[in-house]
Amino acid sequence: AKRVYLFNEGNKDDRELLGGKGANLCEMTSMGLPVPFGFIITTDTCREYFHAGNKLPGLLEQEYRVALDMVEKKMGARFGDPSNPLLFSVRSGAPVSMPGMMNTILNLGLNDEIAAGLAEKTGNARFAYDSYRRFISMFADVVMGVPGEKFEHEIEQYKQANGKELDVDMTAEDWQAIIAIYKTIVDFPEDPFTQLKMAVEAVFQSWHTPRAIFYREMNNIADTLGTAVNVQAMVFGNFGEDSGSGVAFTRNPSTGERQFFGEILFNAAGEDVVAGIRTPLPVEALKERMPEVYDELYRTQELLEKHYRDMQDMEFTIQQGRFYMLQTRSGKRTGRAAVKIAVEMVGENLITEGEALMRVSPEHVEAFLHPTVDPRAKKDIVATGLPASPGGATGEIVFSAEEAEEVAKAGRPVILVRRETTPEDIHGMKVAAGILTELGGMTSHAAVVARGMGVCAITGCGSLSINYADGIATTEDGVEMKRGDTITLDGTSGEVMLGDIPKAEASSSDDFQTLLSWADKHRRLKVRANAETPEDAAKAIELGAEGIGLCRTEHMFFEAERIEKMRAMILSETKKERKKYLKELRKFQRDDMFELFKVMDGLPVTIRLLDPPLHEFLPHGEDDMQALAKAVDKPVEKVREITESLSEVNPMLGFRGCRLSIMYPEITEMQVQAIMSAAADAVEAGYKAMPEIMIPLVVNVREIRMITEIIDKGVQKVLRERLVSVPYKVGTMMETPRATLGADRLAPEVEFMSFGTNDLTQMTYGFSRDDVGKFIPSYIEKKLVEDDPFVTLDQRAVGRLMEMAVSESRKAKKGIKYGICGEHGGDPRSIRFCHNLGLDYVSCSPFRVPIARIAAAQAHV
Ligand code: PEP
Ligand code: MG
Repeated sequence: AKRVYLFNEGNKDDRELLGGKGANLCEMTSMGLPVPFGFIITTDTCREYFHAGNKLPGLLEQEYRVALDMVEKKMGARFGDPSNPLLFSVRSGAPVSMPGMMNTILNLGLNDEIAAGLAEKTGNARFAYDSYRRFISMFADVVMGVPGEKFEHEIEQYKQANGKELDVDMTAEDWQAIIAIYKTIVDFPEDPFTQLKMAVEAVFQSWHTPRAIFYREMNNIADTLGTAVNVQAMVFGNFGEDSGSGVAFTRNPSTGERQFFGEILFNAAGEDVVAGIRTPLPVEALKERMPEVYDELYRTQELLEKHYRDMQDMEFTIQQGRFYMLQTRSGKRTGRAAVKIAVEMVGENLITEGEALMRVSPEHVEAFLHPTVDPRAKKDIVATGLPASPGGATGEIVFSAEEAEEVAKAGRPVILVRRETTPEDIHGMKVAAGILTELGGMTSHAAVVARGMGVCAITGCGSLSINYADGIATTEDGVEMKRGDTITLDGTSGEVMLGDIPKAEASSSDDFQTLLSWADKHRRLKVRANAETPEDAAKAIELGAEGIGLCRTEHMFFEAERIEKMRAMILSETKKERKKYLKELRKFQRDDMFELFKVMDGLPVTIRLLDPPLHEFLPHGEDDMQALAKAVDKPVEKVREITESLSEVNPMLGFRGCRLSIMYPEITEMQVQAIMSAAADAVEAGYKAMPEIMIPLVVNVREIRMITEIIDKGVQKVLRERLVSVPYKVGTMMETPRATLGADRLAPEVEFMSFGTNDLTQMTYGFSRDDVGKFIPSYIEKKLVEDDPFVTLDQRAVGRLMEMAVSESRKAKKGIKYGICGEHGGDPRSIRFCHNLGLDYVSCSPFRVPIARIAAAQAHV
């Protein structure tokens, strides 16, 4: 196939083949903009090069020499000709933007003779030798692997020895002296065609530099894409005071305001602007110095934005008063800017609502919901864990929930650092600005609870070792973080940083609300929230939830007074004793449910029957045991005995879910009574209660039948007594592989099915959800899995089980409502899958509701 394309042979849709930069250079050329001419070697050629074991295809040079001839003709200069030299820039260009990640070589085609020729032809020796010395150091660095600092160092030394301070103080002779020194450091090829060939190869190879690989990993860019090579005639911004280089944005990339925005350096090459050595002037400076050029730039940016229908980030050069465009691309922008630009462009009839929705990513949305760590701030990153709950937080380190409460009470923000968290830590988690744990995956207790509360959290930070006794957490590199030290967590990236890093506060905006209203208009999937407290439910409604998809009732018993009753209930030795405590728990349950029904007035509330790994509620350690013995008035030996008998090796696969209802039906009776009494109370108080009772961790239809009987009996009893009518539904969670495989048999017994993909993932993989934090990061790093399956639904296997369950159960019974309430319900890629699967709703933590609304719309437009 054709390996080389001239700039007039492609267009903006050729990104795959020509790379983003090349495709846009072609587009601008065909728009008639002043683009220095050139050619592109395709990404296919790059793959061919790798495939052949890093060898350039035999015919390639012949092919690009033909293109080169055409460029010479167009530019009226010749590559390698000292009397009329043409120089090239050689740059990488991937199909997906990877700014600054790969290699660039400028001023290619110079040697002693040609530099002298350039000096003579231009009558500007200083410019010629400045360009030459730049070329040598760049070529040596990028192509030959001689570190750039070596060259910098020589310039510094020379300046000191000769009383020069700035680059502008350097004359043509100074640069010639520098070049002589450079030549003792590096033996570079004098032949321009050899230079070109080596540069092309270096650009291909830069695809595999560690930073490029890292960038691709961070941004989910496929390794197989490869890069194109752009070979473009040089124009010079460093030619004199009537020359310059600049970058500009068609709108403000940090606020999104519609305001042309740019920077320029006179008598400077483009690299000087990017490198930030000299401070550029606002682009308006150009208006004063060269008004016609400014007008041309201004018209060009207007034209480009209209043409691309998106905010553009452009590079331009002026040589001796002539204007050239070197690059245009969709500009990177902050979350706020992304939303503002998308919404305003709809108002300007540039794009449709659907396109606006597609322009906003989950990361963009987070800026409206959580404080974000300033990306430009200097950060001292000492450890990295799993990004369990987004946002940034700073506070002083504490190592227990009790300390957290104390310090928070004193008005100081805290970061709660624990090996892992359990229900007992809730009171500390609630007051913490951020939570950091050594263990636990993305669906561990700490992660789920923090996400639910909208508190920043990092879990599975395995490089920490925590010493509670001395109050020290030590990183792998031996950095000690002590009780009282200030640290910052970035729950969006998983980074732990020393000190207080600046953050931008979260706040909504009118544009954001507009975008969300469009999302609602363009989506089919309903979005519910996982919530159990009235506060969380209210937050969920505020953020646009259309019901509660999962109320984890065990979370309602985490509070200090309640956990005691809960423990007493678990430790009960007789049914009678258990019933006594259940009665007390019932009151809490009923009051809570009433509040929930009130808040959710007219919206469905899915209440899951109790599903705790029982041992989570049991005492840990001897002190705890003693205290509990006293509280429940039992000898400590007894407490120890029962605790031991209930403790499990892998509680996440143990005595939980509907297994509790089977063993202790009285717990379910209590819950149903509480739920329905609360619903009746709500109805009497004028609210519309819509309870949906959900059975967890089911494996077969007999469990459902047995428990449904308990539920129906309890419901009827309450409704008969109260003489009110409450519409209610009974459904099941689908979270064991067996349940999904036997969905056709479960179907006749239920009105809804909700996929609990946390457990379903755990059981499909056989990875305990509490322990995955230890090895999932290695799995991802070693490419054994593409994503953490507890974050993004594994479509191949877990998704396949879901697909089968939906299609089989649909055949068995019409009208079942399908939902998902595992953590995947808030993950955009998983939401797309759920949309395609035809589910009715997704349910996620309140703070992810807006993201889910947008993702559901993105899946549908
Ligand atoms: C699940 O397993 O996906 C689920 C929602 O339930 P939990 O996380 O409470 O086990
Ligand atoms: Mg579950």
